[in-house]
Amino acid sequence: MFNYMKKSKNIPLYETDVLIIGAGIMGATLGSILKELDSSLRVDIVESLNSPALESSKALNNAGTGHAGYCELNYTPLLPNNKIDIQKAIQINSGFELSLQYWSYLTKKYHLFSPNKFIKRVPHISLVNGNEDRAYLKKRYLALKNNPLFKTIEFSSDFKTISKWIPLLKTKKSPKEYAATKVEIGTDLNFGEITYQLISILKTKKNFYLHTNYKVTDLNETKDGLWSVEVNNVKKMQAKFIFIASGGNSLKLLQKAKIYEQRSYAGFPVNGQWLVCKNPKIVALHKAKVYGKAEIGSPPMSLPHLDFRIINGEKILMFGPFASFTFKFLISGSLFDFISSIKFHNLKTLCIVFLKEWPLLIYLIKQSFKSHKSRLADLRKFYPDANAEDWQLENAGIRVQIMKKPNIGTPKLEFGTEIIFSGKNNLAALLGASPGASISVKSMIEVIEKCFLNKKKSIAWKSKIKKMIPSYEVNLVKNPKLLKKIRSDNQRTLGINL
Ligand SMILES: Cc1cc2nc3c(=O)[nH]c(=O)nc-3n(C[C@H](O)[C@H](O)[C@H](O)COP(=O)(O)OP(=O)(O)OC[C@H]3O[C@@H](n4cnc5c(N)ncnc54)[C@H](O)[C@@H]3O)c2cc1C
Repeated sequence: MFNYMKKSKNIPLYETDVLIIGAGIMGATLGSILKELDSSLRVDIVESLNSPALESSKALNNAGTGHAGYCELNYTPLLPNNKIDIQKAIQINSGFELSLQYWSYLTKKYHLFSPNKFIKRVPHISLVNGNEDRAYLKKRYLALKNNPLFKTIEFSSDFKTISKWIPLLKTKKSPKEYAATKVEIGTDLNFGEITYQLISILKTKKNFYLHTNYKVTDLNETKDGLWSVEVNNVKKMQAKFIFIASGGNSLKLLQKAKIYEQRSYAGFPVNGQWLVCKNPKIVALHKAKVYGKAEIGSPPMSLPHLDFRIINGEKILMFGPFASFTFKFLISGSLFDFISSIKFHNLKTLCIVFLKEWPLLIYLIKQSFKSHKSRLADLRKFYPDANAEDWQLENAGIRVQIMKKPNIGTPKLEFGTEIIFSGKNNLAALLGASPGASISVKSMIEVIEKCFLNKKKSIAWKSKIKKMIPSYEVNLVKNPKLLKKIRSDNQRTLGINL
């Protein structure tokens, strides 16, 4: 698409309404929703690699969990008053429902959108042992059970039942004192496949272009509030709106954009790794996603979990993630990414967070030097009879942990997904990784609401969103009837009904 750039120095300016930098699930989702809302809008995605979804959105580079708060214990912390806070689990569950509804809408509208290639129903289980954690899990179960979103959750502290849920737990040694919860309607997702399918639909539309093998190297705001963009170090595109959906690289592009709001942020990369088992006899024994408790000192997104996954037709088990040091912000990035992201304005934030979070650094150092034997010892908490030769170490994606200097208070580490908007709302950027892809639709609607819904468009666009996503702007906890209806519609359409 940019071929003319190579031919002449007096190149005409390439103009677009919306420029999305990065063809992962976030960029593809924003492009898709925008074109559903206004087909005349000109949308371009620029991707530095030769295909979409080769970084964090690629199937094996993430855990593929449809995060819904069913099994992730870090979304339901125990408060100092001994009560369980379920607010985050509610937020994430409601956010994930928006994704399911949008994917159902696309399934009904386009034959190119095939959910059987990207979504499977896989039970979500939380597993703990020891008296304290068993008491916590029971309390968490009681707190969730009363909420319509989590009504189907089951609890057991009976080893016979738990080992039916997780057959790999069975061992000749005397079993530990476990407790577990299970939600049957959990999901496993191939976010890479969703990205390809979204982009193949976009490619059928007028005024949409995907430019692969083109890297955005600089961006500057003009006096008229437009964005002038350098691609592959050659001038130039011009865009009315930019969305930086560049995964780990978003922070660096945000710094290039020089908007005031980026000054509060620094980032620190963490590499992920999995133990992967492809032995069909073992894979056949495990059909769930089993999440445990995070180790002391570890970041909350490092909850160990043993997952059954089907990636491009192949059935595998995956255990992890194990964290390790890297200086790159992307798998395809440079060893100078971290160093070059340190600027005068974010140096203090970095230093304060490193000083405050030293247990996390020690945890990362320990994880980086972990032996295969020690990784297996972690796995054996879920599968006591695991054999070393059945499990190979494979790389996952890189997360860039965000450090933020709030308006009031000291800088801190952020674990969620954060969207940064320029003062004029003509640029947005997505930072952070968790709960990430599962709530991509919710996050992209937030971008649209903030940057595209002016007085003129608001009513018409909101009613279009509502047609695609019936629970948009509805509190599902207060509308159990609607919840029941959309869940059964989605499950039928996406082929994940019980
Ligand atoms: C180990 C791990 C486990 C995870 N598990 C889960 C999970 O179970 N469930 C879940 O919901 N989420 C999970 N996530 C998070 C999820 O993977 C991410 O939130 C999601 O993939 C981010 O998508 P993205 O489009 O923002 O980024 P990416 O998929 O990383 O895409 C960014 C794209 O931008 C391109 N790019 C970068 N710089 C430029 C440039 N200058 N010019 C042009 N293109 C550029 C890159 O090449 C890349 O294709 C996990 C992440 C990791 C790392």
